[in-house]
Formats: sequence, structure tokens, C-alpha cells
Amino acid sequence: MHELPLVKSIFKSVKQKAEENNAARVVMVQLEIGVLREFVPEIIQKYWDYITPSTILENSIIDVVEIPASAQCSQCKNVYLLDLQNLFSSVCNQCGCETGTLVTGREMKIKGIQIE
Ligand SMILES: [Zn+2]
Repeated sequence: MHELPLVKSIFKSVKQKAEENNAARVVMVQLEIGVLREFVPEIIQKYWDYITPSTILENSIIDVVEIPASAQCSQCKNVYLLDLQNLFSSVCNQCGCETGTLVTGREMKIKGIQIE
């Protein structure tokens, strides 16, 4: 149930942006979500449908763009994709180094909104 507070904060910022642009209604909201957050798009839409009625966001669609997890190698600085099935044994595909810093995968941001 940890999605709900986040969905509520997305709702607040989208509503604010839409109002600033004098929107009559919001049609679609595009979100970028890193795979490491393990959010299920269908569940986000369910929460969305639960909190948006009677607002200009009613019936808007959530479009989730999943961002893959990647890390930067601490040795050769190569950026490589992490294997989610095998996260803790993912190694750099150039030098085989086992340590790196997470670059992507934990995003949670509003990429764009479509208004009318
Ligand atoms: Zn490396």
C-alpha cells in the first residue's frame, strides 16, 4: 500500500500544473518510474481512479514509462544495465568489476501531462 501517498503527491503536482495552465481537464499523465520501485502500473491507475473523481483530473489516464536499472562501474566508469533477476551478482560487462553506483532505476517523476 506504499503507492498511495506517492500517487497523492503526483496528483497534487499535476493538479497544480493543470490549474496554472488554465486546463479544463487533464487527459493523460505520463510518469517515469524506475523498475526498482516495483510499482505496478495497474495499481497506480486504480489509486488514481480512486482519488481523481470530481476534479479536473477525473478519467485521466496514467501512462507509465518504465526506466531500466543501470549502474556505473566504480573501476572503468562504464554504465551497464542491471539484471533484476540477479541484482546482487550483476557485474560490469566491460571489466567484470562487482561494485558500482546506481544511475537509473529509482526514478519517480512526471514526464508530461496532456490537458484540454
Ligand atoms: Zn567496469
